[in-house]
Amino acid sequence: MRTRKVVRKMMSGPSGAASRVADILRESRKTMVLTGAGVSTESGIPDYRSKGTGLWEKYDPMEKASLQALLSNPAEFYRFNLPRWCDYAAAQPNITHRALYQLERKGYIHGIITQNIDGLHRKAGSQRVWEVHGHLRTCRCLDCAASYPFTELITQFNRGTNPPRCPQCNGLLRPDVVLFGDPMGDDYYRAREEMHGCEVLMVVGSSLQVYPVADLPRLARRLVIINKEPTPWDPKAEVVAYKEAGSFFHNLLEALGIEGQ
Ligand code: NAD
Ligand code: ZN
Repeated sequence: MRTRKVVRKMMSGPSGAASRVADILRESRKTMVLTGAGVSTESGIPDYRSKGTGLWEKYDPMEKASLQALLSNPAEFYRFNLPRWCDYAAAQPNITHRALYQLERKGYIHGIITQNIDGLHRKAGSQRVWEVHGHLRTCRCLDCAASYPFTELITQFNRGTNPPRCPQCNGLLRPDVVLFGDPMGDDYYRAREEMHGCEVLMVVGSSLQVYPVADLPRLARRLVIINKEPTPWDPKAEVVAYKEAGSFFHNLLEALGIEGQ
């Protein structure tokens, strides 16, 4: 394995971020990817913190998508969140999701830890995905814990039943997403285990501001960050590319000689 000094020297070459990352992926014995809302903006889903377009520039997350909001005013919680979650569920994978699928298939990455709830990594074909903030495939009853497809929420909401109720016990239904104020779910703890022995963590499209996920870079020996805007981890990263994820991954696949984007 090469020393950090040698890698830094390679970085100063004329080849650009994508080919530097290609070299790092070729060398690495275990690479994990951590994705955030920025990988899905090119599928038409706004992120939270981008300057100008981020959702949280207009709304307070604690107010709108928290456990507290669900419990104190469930009808308003669903009025605000359900339409945008339906948009997430209808979105299609973009070049970044497809490229990450190719990287898994070709053995360059071990798996993807995602903060996204949109399911687009799975839709693109990725197999080893840990959805640490949950997903939009199911929902459950807060009283009897019965589980239902996510469409149960949509069907009830569309016919005017707001908040949606458990068909078995009439308890309040909640989505299987990790809300502000919720404990982390199983996938988070599995993801931490998968980080064991991780040589390279490649962060894509995350502001790295939401904890505890923002702490995961600590578990990797080497760090690569692809994000349009600076993150608090940039000073620790070996490569930082302030780029659109789509164009970066186009170049990365080219640098690795992978076709079929
Ligand atoms: P974030 O909004 O805090 O940060 C997104 C980052 O991505 C920003 O720094 C932005 O500059 C960057 N970015 C935006 N478009 C990009 C692109 N095309 N290429 C490269 N970088 C790009 O998002 P986060 O770090 O994931 O954390 C916030 C929370 O947002 C997470 O908990 C996640 O569950 C939730 N969220 C998810 C979705 C989704 O499922 N698609 C959408 C919005 C928010
Ligand atoms: Zn119930």
